[in-house]
Amino acid sequence: MIRFACLGSGSRGNGLVVEVGDGRHTTRVLVDCGFNCRETVARLARLGLRPADLRGLIVTHEHSDHLGGVFRFAARYGIRVFMTHGTLSNVDAAVQRLAAVDVIDSHQSFRIDGLGVSPFPVPHDAREPVQFVFSDGALRLGLLTDAGHATAHVERMLSGVDALVLECNHDLRMLESGGYPVWLRRRIASPYGHLDNAAAAQLLAALDRSKLQHLVAAHLSHQNNTAEMARMALAQAAGCDPGWIGIADQDAGFAWREIR
Ligand SMILES: [Zn+2]
Ligand SMILES: [Zn+2]
Repeated sequence: MIRFACLGSGSRGNGLVVEVGDGRHTTRVLVDCGFNCRETVARLARLGLRPADLRGLIVTHEHSDHLGGVFRFAARYGIRVFMTHGTLSNVDAAVQRLAAVDVIDSHQSFRIDGLGVSPFPVPHDAREPVQFVFSDGALRLGLLTDAGHATAHVERMLSGVDALVLECNHDLRMLESGGYPVWLRRRIASPYGHLDNAAAAQLLAALDRSKLQHLVAAHLSHQNNTAEMARMALAQAAGCDPGWIGIADQDAGFAWREIR
């Protein structure tokens, strides 16, 4: 069984809890930590968790909304950190010394106890950004945020997953007519920026969705998107009811979801 829940999602901080268990053993990790220690502890508590319940902290890339709280939290609670060489090379040397880091290969699956983790590279304006598919050996949870566009490899990795957390960063028209400065608009919309609703929907339409039990839209922009627009775009692509699609909220994240 896989359970997953979210501490918060968006440019002001991210954190996803993934848990696998067979009834006797449970392995639980936190993916990214863009919140300070106090905030992270409080958000974990909403899910009934303490820091000691985490076996690892897996990082997607060095942007502060994902990495900002990682080292201090890992140091304080003695949690192992996993990240690519490129991500680590962007971490200040003094900060690196705070916690034990396992360097991961962006193409090589690894295990943390009962949890299988398959990283895959994504096009994003960071040094060596990855996203992940998590598995308990039978079921698979896919995570994709902070990707400028979907590649054939991304598509292969996410096809046939049992649950998917998928970036719907912005609506292109809202971004273009919104108040962001031109350079920032260009960055977000570039092939190394963020997935907009239409691009996320296009990727979703191309995936094998036959096993999909959960679909959650994530990393929504406060200014340039709405939950309704993200839901509508994905629902159209998946041929499902918009109400079935979850939203990873910046403040509330989302509550536990279970894949069986
Ligand atoms: Zn981000
Ligand atoms: Zn990023």
